[in-house]
Amino acid sequence: MFAVHLVSFFFSKLQEDPTKKVDRFLYAMRLHDDQLKEISARFQAEMKKGLSSDSNAAAAVKMLPTHVRSTPNGTEKGQFLALDLGGSRFKVLQVKVREGKGIRRGGVEMEEKTYQIPKDLLSGRGTELFDHVAESLKDFMHEKNISLEKKHLLAFTFSFACEQSALDKGSLLHWSKNFRVRGLQGKDMVHVLREAIDRAGGMDVEVLAMVNDTVATMMTCGFEDQYCEAGLIIGTGTNACYMEEMCHVALVEGDEGRMCVNTEWGAFGDDGALDDYITEFDRDIDAASNNPGKHIFEKMISGMYLGEIVRLVVLKMAKLGQLFNGHVSNALRTKGTLTTAHVAAMEEYKTGLKNTEHILRELDLNPSPEDCVAVQHVSTIVSFRSSNLVAAGLAAILTRIKKNRNLRELRITVGLDGTVYKTHPQYPKRLHKVVRHLLPECHVRFVLSDSGSSKGAALVTAVAQRLAARRRQVDETLSPFRLSQEQLTLVKNRMSAGLEAGLRCKGTSSVKMLPSFVYRTPDGKEQGKYLALDLGGTNLRALLVTFKTGLQQNTRMHHKIYTIPLEIMQGTGEELFDYIAYCISDFLDYMGMKKAHLPAGFTFSFPCEQTAIDTGKLVSWTKGFKATDCEGHDVVEMLREAIKRRNEFDLDIIAMVNDTVGTMMSCAYEDPQCEIGMIVGTGTNVCYMEDLKNIEKTKQNMCVNTEWGGLGDDGSLDDIMTPFDIEVNQNSINPGKQRFEKLISGMYLGEIVRQVLLDLTRAGLLFRGRVTETLKTPGMFQTKYLSQIESDRIALLQVRSILQQLGLNSTCNDSIIVREVCAMVSRRAAQLCGAGMAAVVDKIRENRGLNHLNITVGVDGALYKQHPHFSRVLQEIVRALAPQCDVTFLPSDEGSGKGAALITAVCRLQEGSVQTVFSM
Ligand code: ADP
Ligand code: MG
Repeated sequence: MFAVHLVSFFFSKLQEDPTKKVDRFLYAMRLHDDQLKEISARFQAEMKKGLSSDSNAAAAVKMLPTHVRSTPNGTEKGQFLALDLGGSRFKVLQVKVREGKGIRRGGVEMEEKTYQIPKDLLSGRGTELFDHVAESLKDFMHEKNISLEKKHLLAFTFSFACEQSALDKGSLLHWSKNFRVRGLQGKDMVHVLREAIDRAGGMDVEVLAMVNDTVATMMTCGFEDQYCEAGLIIGTGTNACYMEEMCHVALVEGDEGRMCVNTEWGAFGDDGALDDYITEFDRDIDAASNNPGKHIFEKMISGMYLGEIVRLVVLKMAKLGQLFNGHVSNALRTKGTLTTAHVAAMEEYKTGLKNTEHILRELDLNPSPEDCVAVQHVSTIVSFRSSNLVAAGLAAILTRIKKNRNLRELRITVGLDGTVYKTHPQYPKRLHKVVRHLLPECHVRFVLSDSGSSKGAALVTAVAQRLAARRRQVDETLSPFRLSQEQLTLVKNRMSAGLEAGLRCKGTSSVKMLPSFVYRTPDGKEQGKYLALDLGGTNLRALLVTFKTGLQQNTRMHHKIYTIPLEIMQGTGEELFDYIAYCISDFLDYMGMKKAHLPAGFTFSFPCEQTAIDTGKLVSWTKGFKATDCEGHDVVEMLREAIKRRNEFDLDIIAMVNDTVGTMMSCAYEDPQCEIGMIVGTGTNVCYMEDLKNIEKTKQNMCVNTEWGGLGDDGSLDDIMTPFDIEVNQNSINPGKQRFEKLISGMYLGEIVRQVLLDLTRAGLLFRGRVTETLKTPGMFQTKYLSQIESDRIALLQVRSILQQLGLNSTCNDSIIVREVCAMVSRRAAQLCGAGMAAVVDKIRENRGLNHLNITVGVDGALYKQHPHFSRVLQEIVRALAPQCDVTFLPSDEGSGKGAALITAVCRLQEGSVQTVFSM
C-alpha cells in the first residue's frame, strides 16, 4: 500500500498528471454544455414524435400512456398488496395508506419481502416466471398472516415497456435489462398475472393496476409533494415519466386533464439519434448485450452497464500500454468483473483511491499509484457522462412541461429511485447541478423516493379509488340536473296547460298570457324616423331608427346604451323614470335631435296589463328590478310625466311593447314566417300570434305575451327543482316568483353554478375543500363565464385562468369538474327552454288545425346568442318534442328595440285606422 499524500508529489515531479492522459483518451465521453443542450433538443424532438399518432409507430422513444391521470393529493387511503417486478430484486409488499399524512409521517406503512428469481427463470418460459411470482405472493401472505379468506386489492409494478389500454391492461412490448423470458411479448401482463394467481389458488386477490416503476416513483413522491410531476429511475435500467397534457397524448381519447406518460427513454438513440455521441466502448457493450441495437441511451447510463464500460476502457488502455505497464489480467478480460458498485466505491470521497487499488488488485492487477488515479478518473468520466445524459433528458422533459403550461418559470419536483442514484456518492449532486445549470428558470426539487417503485403501485391504486369515489359523488350531485325525455315531455305538457289556463283566466294564472294589442306583423311598407327605448334587464338602450321603403327595405339605426345602476333599479319609481328621461335627453343631444318631437316606441320588458297599444299597467317587477310605486301603475303615463318634469324635449309615445313582441316584429320584418318572439337574456319570455277567438269572439289574431317565466309559480315544477334551484330562489329578490325563468335565464345560471360549486367544495370534492370568500359572494359567478368555460375552443388551462381571475385556485381536475357543472346547468336550461317552445309551436299548429307547421322564432338575448351550446340544445329538444313543426330560429339584431320602432311605424302607417286595428 502506498501513502496517498505521495501521489501529488509523483505527478508534479516525475510525470504528467495521469488524469490528463485519461481525459485525452476519453475525450468523446466528456460532454460539454453545448452538446448537452443539443442532446436535450434531440430528446425533445423524440418525445414529440412518440406522442403523435402519425409518427408513434416509427418512433424510438415510445412515450407510452399509463392511464394514470392524477397524482396523489393526500386524501388517499386503503390497504393493498403490491408486487414489484423488474428491478434488480423481486419484492412482495403489503402497503397501508393512511389519509392526510405524508410518507415521512407514517402515511404509508409497508412490509416487504424480497424473493430471489432463479437465473434460469430470467430466460425461461413466461408461465414459469409468473408461477414463481404467484407462489411468492402466496408465501408472503402466509408469512405475514394475511387472511386468505378476505378479498385483497393488488397493485403491480412492472418495469418494462408495456402498451397500456387501461390502468389494468397492458401488453408487453419487449423485455430489457437482464430479462429475456419467452412467450410473453404482446400479451396482457395483468391477465398473465391473474392467471398465475388463479393457478396458484387459495387467494382472493384482485389486480387493480399495473404501473411502470417510474410512475410508481412519481406517485410515491407525489403523496408528499404536490409539485411532483415527474419520476426518474437510475438503477439497473433507466427511464422517466412525467405528467403530459391529455391533448398531446394522441394515443388516448379525450383532451381533458393530464396523463402520466412513460417515456421509455432508454430507447433514445435506437434509430441512430445518438450516433455521433456513441464511443467504441458503447458499441462493444451493445454488441455483447441481450438486446443488441436496442436501449442505446440506457446502455450509456444505467447500473447494468456502467461497470462494464469502465472495464472495457481500462482494458483497452492497458492493452495500449497506458496502464499497468501494459499488463492485462484474465480477470480484467472477463465480462462482468467490474460492477456499478465498484464504480461507486472507486469514487468514494477520501477512500476512493484506496478502494480503487483494492479493486484492481482483486482483478489480479498490480497498479501503480498513478494507475489508481487514472482508473479512478475513468470511473468518474463514465459515471459523470451518465449523470450528464440523464440531466439532458430530464431538462428536455421539464422544458416540455414548462412549454405545455405556458409558464415563464416552472416549479416542479422530481421523484427519483434506483441503485445508481441511491448509492453512488457523487451522482445526485452532479445530476442536480447540471439540471439546474441547463434550466436556470426552473425551480427543481429532487426527492429520493426510497422504495418508491414498490409503494407507488399501491398509491396509484389508492388514487384510482379516490378518483372513482369522487366521481361517484360528483355524479350524484349533478344527477338531478339530468332531465329525461319523459321529464321534458312533462314540462312541455305543463307549459301547454299553462298557456291554456292563462288564456282562460286572464292574468291570474302563473303563465299570464297578456294581450299585446299588436294584431299583425309588419308588411315592409313602414317608413319614417322613430325613437325607440328598450328597457331590458340590465340596460336601457336608446335608438333612432329610420325605415325606408322601396325595392330594398332599408333600416338605419343609431343607438346608445345606458347601464342602470342598482340603486335606480331598486329605488323609487319616480327616480327610475327620471333616469330614463335623462337618458333620452342625453341621447337626443347626442343625435342633435332635441327639437324633433319624434314618434316613439317603448320596449318595456316586464309583464304589463295592456288595454291599448299605448297603455300598460305593470303587473309585477321581475329580474333585478323592484322600484317602488310602479306595480299597478301605467308605465307609459309614468314616462310621460317624467318627460314633462324634465321639460326639455317632447316625445310622442305611440306604442308600448314587450321585448318579446319587439323581437318578433323586427324579425318578421325580414321573415314573414316569424310569428313568435323569444328572449333568453337576463330573463326569459315568449310571445306569439294567437288566434283571437281564443281571447275574444273575433276572427283576428293578436300577439300574446305569454310571460312564460312564471310557469311553476304554482308549484307545478317542484319535482324538477334541485336543492340548488331552491337556494337560488330563496336568495332572489322575488322568492317564489318566475320559477321557470330562474331555471333558464342569464340572471340565474351563474348563481346556480355557484351554489353547486359551493356544495362540491364543502364536500371536499373541489378546490381542495377550501370555501373562499369569492365563492360565497352572490353574483360573483356570472353567466358569461359559463359561455367562456364551455367554449370548445378553450383549453383547460384557460378555464383555470378564468377561475384564477375569480380568486379560485384550481387544479386541473377542479377545472374539469367546474366545466362539467357549467355544462349541466346550461344544458338543462336550454332543454327546458326547448320544452316550453315545443308547447308554443304545437299550440299554434293546433290552433290552425295543421298537421305540419313551418314557423320562425325571432330571438334576442345574450345567453341565447353568446352561449356556445344553448341554441343547439334548444333546437334539438324542439325537434324531439314537437316533431310536427319545422321551427327556424332567427337571431335578431337589436330586435327588441327596433321592434318598438316598427310597431310605432305600423301605427303611423295606419294612422286613420288606428282605432280599429290597435284598440279593442
Ligand atoms: P337583457 O336581457 O337584460 O335585455 P341581454 O340580452 O344583453 O339583456 O342579456 C344580458 C344578460 O345575459 C346578462 O345579465 C347575463 O346574465 C347574460 N349574459 C351576458 N353575457 C353573456 C354571455 N357571454 N354568455 C351568456 N350569458 C351572458
Ligand atoms: Mg333585452
